[in-house]
Amino acid sequence: MLIVLGSKKIHETMHKHLIRNMKKYLLYVSIIGILFMLSCKPIDEKKKLDRNDGLTLNDSHVHIMSPNLIAEWKDLGIPFSKPDYKYSNIDTILNTNGADNIKLIGMGYVYGNSDFYSGNDEYLKVKKENDYLLESAKKYKSQVHPFFAIDPLKDYAIKEIKRCLQINKNSGLKLHFNASQVYLTEPEHLKKIHSIFKIAAENDIAILLHFDNWHPKFGKPDVEILVHKILKDLEPINLTIAHFGTSGGFNQKTKNVLEAFIELYNSERIPKRHKILFDISAVALDKDSEGVKKLTEDEFKELKVYCNKIGFDKIIFGTDYPLYTSKEYYDILNTKLNLSKSDLKEIAK
Ligand SMILES: [Zn+2]
Repeated sequence: MLIVLGSKKIHETMHKHLIRNMKKYLLYVSIIGILFMLSCKPIDEKKKLDRNDGLTLNDSHVHIMSPNLIAEWKDLGIPFSKPDYKYSNIDTILNTNGADNIKLIGMGYVYGNSDFYSGNDEYLKVKKENDYLLESAKKYKSQVHPFFAIDPLKDYAIKEIKRCLQINKNSGLKLHFNASQVYLTEPEHLKKIHSIFKIAAENDIAILLHFDNWHPKFGKPDVEILVHKILKDLEPINLTIAHFGTSGGFNQKTKNVLEAFIELYNSERIPKRHKILFDISAVALDKDSEGVKKLTEDEFKELKVYCNKIGFDKIIFGTDYPLYTSKEYYDILNTKLNLSKSDLKEIAK
């Protein structure tokens, strides 16, 4: 943002270059979350968690990318710290991650973002990415639950949902309101999102929602629109709010989103027929990254207070792999966040 504010002093060409890089940086941070920047540390290769308590560990937020998508990120100058197969090969992902069952999350929505892709084959690229995800998941039907991805504002959105359901009727849907720049405060956007949620409810499609659209005022108003204008008249829906509502880490914005949900729950304004869960992936950060700070001891304490407020029955375990492996993140929740074994068992089931 400093670059934008200081623009008058910068030579125009230089300015454009910086803006382009800034946009690229924001895209980088927002679309893939913080997962690459933070995954520079070598992944712990330990295959299974050290668990003697018979715990079944379900990871609700594991990413996969096709080799094509990785190549396109690299063309944009985004550094990848590990060999491609760590991000693209389902055997490697399952082995490295170490969870018993995973939700495998696609990233096809990036092709809808003009900062990422400006060619003429957008829908074709989205389809290929979703095909890669669904094909990878097919190999481990009982362990891997795929979530295909779309940009919900595009004309092909509903067509693509139907196409993916034909391939796997049990698949879920990933939406990323920052990558797709969705503003529920915009009536047009609201209308489209409503129709997509309606299809999801009617077809029993679980939604994983990256809600934060990166607008400085994102928070309470967005939660209220979601609840009052979308969830209000829908059939029961299975909705998971990724990263506790923001884009990773634990900050004032995250607290605002959680407070808004808690308030609505406490006043019983969220219909009980809906199942809304909060995925803790990328929230309890124990390492710094560009743009997102690791949590201080006090912030870990405060996060635990918020976990208690939401209730462990509404929280689910997720790693945002390749950000963390299941073992690494389980250990952080256990030691840094100080969750008890029974709380961990509850969120990991
Ligand atoms: Zn993610």
